[in-house]
Amino acid sequence: MTALLLRSGKLLDVETGEYAEGDLLCADGRIVETGTGLTAPEGARIVDLAGAAVLPGLIDAHVHVTAATADLGALPSWSPSYAAAHAGRIMGQMLDRGFTTVRDASGADFGLADAQAEGLIRGPRLAFCGKALSQTGGHGDSRPRGTRLHDGHQCCAGLGRIADGVDAVRAAARDELRKGAHHIKVMAGGGVASPTDRIDSTQYSMDELRAIVEEADAANRYVAAHAYTARSVSRALRAGIRSIEHGNLIDESNVPEFLEHDAFLVPTLVTYWALKTEGREFGLPEDSWRKVDDVLGAGLAALEAAHRGGVKIAYGSDLLGGMHRHQNEEFRIRCQVQQPLDVIRAATSTAADLLGMTGEIGTLRVGALADLVVVDGDPLADIAVLAGPEHLRHVVQGGHLVSGAER
Ligand SMILES: [Zn+2]
Repeated sequence: MTALLLRSGKLLDVETGEYAEGDLLCADGRIVETGTGLTAPEGARIVDLAGAAVLPGLIDAHVHVTAATADLGALPSWSPSYAAAHAGRIMGQMLDRGFTTVRDASGADFGLADAQAEGLIRGPRLAFCGKALSQTGGHGDSRPRGTRLHDGHQCCAGLGRIADGVDAVRAAARDELRKGAHHIKVMAGGGVASPTDRIDSTQYSMDELRAIVEEADAANRYVAAHAYTARSVSRALRAGIRSIEHGNLIDESNVPEFLEHDAFLVPTLVTYWALKTEGREFGLPEDSWRKVDDVLGAGLAALEAAHRGGVKIAYGSDLLGGMHRHQNEEFRIRCQVQQPLDVIRAATSTAADLLGMTGEIGTLRVGALADLVVVDGDPLADIAVLAGPEHLRHVVQGGHLVSGAER
């Protein structure tokens, strides 16, 4: 048995927003006991927290661990081994920012997930979807308009695969599920980092969207959809899609649809701010950079409307290339319209619900996986405690100190 005893922390219950002062004991990868004056088992490692705050390990529900450049059109021509080496670096850095689980929103495959699970690379637990399904000319079609060929071979480092028509999208969804996809990602509307589509376009017919949902549903998985506008989000929700990614241009009319379908919203506000200020430096083509303004300003109002309406909201960042380092900045941005506890829930308990891991992660309850972060200061009073790495004292994953002091 490997045991870790954290002494004298302030343990945050993210459901109630209350701290309990006391100790937390991890053994064999799980939280086994919390309380005051706990006895350390034989051979346990003991770390004195001296009143620091303990939170569940953070969960980012929208990342691309293979997106080592913002030039997504260049990725498919990279060597898969080179892209994997970058992904290993990016995942290790996510762990160092306190993210012990991430949901990859296209690009990562079973190889990276296995490598992390076996300890070959440091990184968050990885819920992957393989390649995103895109129609021809959709957000996952990275070809410039003068190019006809698309080689979406299995190990290519691109984020998308093209499938048109009900039969083809069924086959593509089944193929990703065959490879172990945790969810299916579909491009249901226009995007920024794609060369030929318009932000305000809807993508895929309702028949195609419904077919993809049916395939995911058959495998007891769900579908996540890239969508910005009220129209594309409404179509996706009506097709049975459970997770709406970005949603910057939604309006009040979408709120009852989210509630009716018990769907989640995963805003990714930090990436637009980062793309606008640094995108070109990290490879975002000029044409894509000009599209950022279409979604940048509206995102906060969309988040506020969704929050006010009671929509389930999870944390997302969606950063690319050298901009990954801003991953925690999303906490600060959201706190312009939400309370710190709301955003902490988005990155813990609500994200766990979205990933189908309720009670396993995103909580400090006994029996959960021992994934935690220890921070100096009170993030409920000042979200800057989570928005910058300087306050992060320890990261614990599976009951081991994996980042920070005393690792
Ligand atoms: Zn994304």
